[in-house]
Amino acid sequence: MEKLANQIINSPIPTRLVVGNIDKVRDVVEIALQSRFCLQQSDFALQKSCFCTECRKIKNRQHPFLLWLCPEKDYSVDDMDAIFDKTRFALDDGQSFFFVLDKAQNLNSASANKILKVLEDPPVGYNFILLTDNTNLILPTILSRSFVVQAQTHSEQILDHQLLKYFAVKNSLPEPVSFDQELKKLHLSDNESTELCQTLMEYFIKKVSVCYTDPHLQDQKLFFTQGLQIVQKRLKTPPASGSAGLFWKLLYLDFSVVRMDSTSLTTNDNKTRSP
Ligand SMILES: [Zn+2]
Repeated sequence: MEKLANQIINSPIPTRLVVGNIDKVRDVVEIALQSRFCLQQSDFALQKSCFCTECRKIKNRQHPFLLWLCPEKDYSVDDMDAIFDKTRFALDDGQSFFFVLDKAQNLNSASANKILKVLEDPPVGYNFILLTDNTNLILPTILSRSFVVQAQTHSEQILDHQLLKYFAVKNSLPEPVSFDQELKKLHLSDNESTELCQTLMEYFIKKVSVCYTDPHLQDQKLFFTQGLQIVQKRLKTPPASGSAGLFWKLLYLDFSVVRMDSTSLTTNDNKTRSP
């Protein structure tokens, strides 16, 4: 949390985009703002639970140097005007003002176009913090003007990709027909497929090692171990000269066998370990 909050506050450019689970992202932005304005605590851990006047105003989103916008649907012209009403006034030396644009995916191209210039080069002291749980929905013109802060964990990121989600989570393979359709829609190249599969491998490696320390994941250990073995085996012959489609289908077959075998294998596994 502290690292993320620091990244937000010390962004090299005035506009940042914070990506992750939206509740977590809101929390981390609140904490970042508290670390900037809190009057009582200098220690990060204590600021989190601080209720000084500044921290209270931030938590209520009524701080005089904060405008937190969170429209239900698309951002409106009024929202954009609210921003320009503020930036018309020059800040004093050392003052900072923060605009938080919650659900930044709701910035449509009309509203985004109005603020692109101010996002890129706001008057001195003005800052923008954009929040989203899905970078794929953010306009490229906004993305290119933002310092991206990833508040997602590695495993949350991998689950962003629909295709990887099927393999990374036990019993989530779709029916063969829908898998085939999905595959065709994605048009993955050989290289993209290899990279995705490597990401999947890293994910399994991490999960397997976590299983040894986290008792809650014990029942998943077999799945992760087998998943890792399959992916490693497949990566020995990565897709080449346009065989990406076949590559994914073979992976699908391997994983569907794991799904069927899981129960019997678990029993065997237990037997070998019992005295
Ligand atoms: Zn405080």
